[in-house]
Amino acid sequence: MGVDGIAGLRAGRYLGRMPDVTTTDATMGGTADRLRILTVPDPVLRRVARPVGEGDGDAVRNLVPRMLAAMYAAPGIGLAAPQVGLSLRLAVIDLQRDDARAPMVIINPSIIAASTETEPHEEGCLSLPGQFADVVRPRVVTVRYLDEAGARQEVTADGLLGRCLQHEIDHLDGVLFVDHISALKRNMILRRLAKSLRAKEG
Ligand SMILES: [Zn+2]
Repeated sequence: MGVDGIAGLRAGRYLGRMPDVTTTDATMGGTADRLRILTVPDPVLRRVARPVGEGDGDAVRNLVPRMLAAMYAAPGIGLAAPQVGLSLRLAVIDLQRDDARAPMVIINPSIIAASTETEPHEEGCLSLPGQFADVVRPRVVTVRYLDEAGARQEVTADGLLGRCLQHEIDHLDGVLFVDHISALKRNMILRRLAKSLRAKEG
C-alpha cells in the first residue's frame, strides 16, 4: 500500500464520513444492542485503557462484532473500545476500500517502530463528530498486536492504515487527535463541538 492510496482522499473521509454501509447482517449484532459511541468530554475517552487479559476472552468475543456494527453504522473506519465506554486495549479498523469489508481487530497493540519522516493529513473522529483538523504523524509505523484469535501479528503500514492505527492506539492511551494540534485550534474545535452537541440535544 502506498501513500497514493490516500492522495485522493478528501477531507472528512477519514473516520468521519464514509459511504453508508449500514449492516443488516445478523452476525454483526442487531440495532437492538447497538453500542453507543461516546463523545467528548466523556471521561472514559481520557483514561489509559487496561490491557486485554486471559480472562477477557468472552468479553472480547461479545464486543468485537458489536463494535464493528457500531463502526459500520456510524459510519467510520476505526473504533476503539474506550469510545464505546470500555477501557480496554482493543480497537477495530476497516478501511472499506471500494466498499468491501475487511475488518481488522487489534488487541493490546503497540507501535514498535515509527518513521522519523512525518506527514500531515486531515483526521476526524467519531467521538468528535463533524470536527476535522490536519494532524502531523509519522509516515510509517510498525504495530504489534494480537488478532481476534489471540495470534501475534505485526503490520507495517503507511497511508490511511498507518494513520488509522496511530489514531486508534492513541485512543487506548486517552489521547485524541486534537491533542496533536495547537491549543488555539483545539479550543476552537472543542467549542464548536460543544455547541453542535448542545444544538443536537436541544
Ligand atoms: Zn477517534
